[in-house]
Amino acid sequence: MSAAIWHPFTQHGLKEPIPQIVHGDGARLYTDDGREIIDAISSWWVNTHGHCHPRIMAAIQAQADRLDQVIFAGWTHEPAERLADALSHVLPTPLSHIFFSDSGSTAVEVALKMALGYWHNCGEKRDRIIVMENSYHGDTVGTMSVGARGVFNRPYAPLLFDVSSIPFPAAGQEQAMLDKLESLCALKPAAFIVEPLVLGAGGMLMYGPDMLARMHAICAAHDVLFIADEVMTGWGRTGTVFACEQAGIVPDISCLSKGLTGGAIPLAVTAAQKRIYDAHYSRDKADMFFHSSSYTANPLACGAALANLAIWRDEPVQVRIDTIIAAHREFAKQMTPHIGRDNIRQTGTILALDFVRGQGESASYMSALGPELLAFFAARDVLLRPLGNTVYIMPPYCITEVELARIYDAVKAAAERFLQ
Ligand SMILES: *Cc1c(COP(=O)(O)O)cnc(C)c1O
Repeated sequence: MSAAIWHPFTQHGLKEPIPQIVHGDGARLYTDDGREIIDAISSWWVNTHGHCHPRIMAAIQAQADRLDQVIFAGWTHEPAERLADALSHVLPTPLSHIFFSDSGSTAVEVALKMALGYWHNCGEKRDRIIVMENSYHGDTVGTMSVGARGVFNRPYAPLLFDVSSIPFPAAGQEQAMLDKLESLCALKPAAFIVEPLVLGAGGMLMYGPDMLARMHAICAAHDVLFIADEVMTGWGRTGTVFACEQAGIVPDISCLSKGLTGGAIPLAVTAAQKRIYDAHYSRDKADMFFHSSSYTANPLACGAALANLAIWRDEPVQVRIDTIIAAHREFAKQMTPHIGRDNIRQTGTILALDFVRGQGESASYMSALGPELLAFFAARDVLLRPLGNTVYIMPPYCITEVELARIYDAVKAAAERFLQ
């Protein structure tokens, strides 16, 4: 392990071991010292079809023989053309305009800029963003601004712009949340941004499609742009290809990234409805959408994304997802006596368990139990990375019954070790 590397979200002072992965195959990762690890969190929520899926690897290799990279301002290339066409068949019809970037954070930054550009070009002074508390939208300055404030971003607080916040619709808080959204929308903000159905990094907090539909209806009634951050929830995670489907809504702008290339290579998409594109369309250069990154629509990444779509088309991905959903449901039942009903929740392929010890303790990212759990799972060759004392399972869809059982056994053993 190189002392030159500064790892993300890592406190090097704790001197925790950093294993080296040399090979990946399906839901398994292999270390340089011969360990075989089950990847229970899809390598940070990106890897949907398993590591080194042959079709995605072949697509990258084939594209590498033809074209590596080309400027995307004023130029185009076949993989991007084909991908945009293919995405417009997967996305709901109104999300007709595809803007490429390279990470979830940039997809969200692009969405925020599109929203403000829309109102600016419409000649209305609307620039405020409404957010939901406990949200996570990325780690750049703009995305931190619309995300939860806390220990993650305290040093940077002076850089963050002001937003208006609605409560998370926890049981009993639903009406309070809707009322707050209604009153904030009446003040004519630019947009509301939300993670549909599951707030990921905020602790795998879950709410139902009915709430999502009602939030969307309130925004629509006040002409507030509705931005769905589907960076984590997209590509099957919640049981449907996109979480918004379950609420029967189409957002004005949707952000996609993590599973877009099957988790092989960075790529992101911000998909917008026509009126947002149209507001930037004129003969005046000053009206254009001022955003790009050097690798916008990188051909290798577009090739990988096309392979991802082909896998969705040709392989029984939905069957695999449904199998995981059923297995999680069964495991959740088994765990209820250990963890308590209120501390277990599931949406689609995501199962979350709060490891709270006794009265008064709650789920918290800074929980002292977090590092202990991490080490416990690592010692069992299971890659789980609890959010504090919230343990969650989010496997690649190709995972086998035997591999899932290894994850469940580790989680059950942790409950026996830490909660008795
Ligand atoms: C991971 C995540 C992001 C940020 O994506 P990066 O690719 O890490 O920049 C944004 N929004 C949500 C909901 C995420 O889970």
